[in-house]
Amino acid sequence: MTDCLFCKMAAGEIKPDTVLENDDVIAFRDINPQAPTHVLVIPRQHIATLNDLQPAHAELVGRMYLAAQEVARIDGLDSRGYRTVMNCLEEAGQSVFHLHLHVLGGRPMQWPPG
Ligand code: IMP
Repeated sequence: MTDCLFCKMAAGEIKPDTVLENDDVIAFRDINPQAPTHVLVIPRQHIATLNDLQPAHAELVGRMYLAAQEVARIDGLDSRGYRTVMNCLEEAGQSVFHLHLHVLGGRPMQWPPG
């Protein structure tokens, strides 16, 4: 989508602070970090929300989680622990309508999230 911020990052039109990328996903540091590590993992393909996932996306979603695991290893969180979050629609806090997985860590986490 031409007016989607994260599509522009996927296309290389906007350069995020990239942690890793491959043919399917990009992981980059959040511009407004909520923890010492706050990375967003996005698919290159535009999918607006969790509600828009189809069975055909199952492998892609798996690749997003494998990327999150790699991000945690890169930032030294794999043995400490980390959290992954995917907000769906406004009431959950979704503000960018291109699917993304938050990877948060580097400090103790509270539960439940606010
Ligand atoms: P959401 O609120 O779950 O949709 O998460 C969107 C995230 O994107 C927020 O944590 C924002 O801080 C982050 N964000 C928005 N614009 C940018 C950007 O240009 N670079 C990196 N992160 C961004």
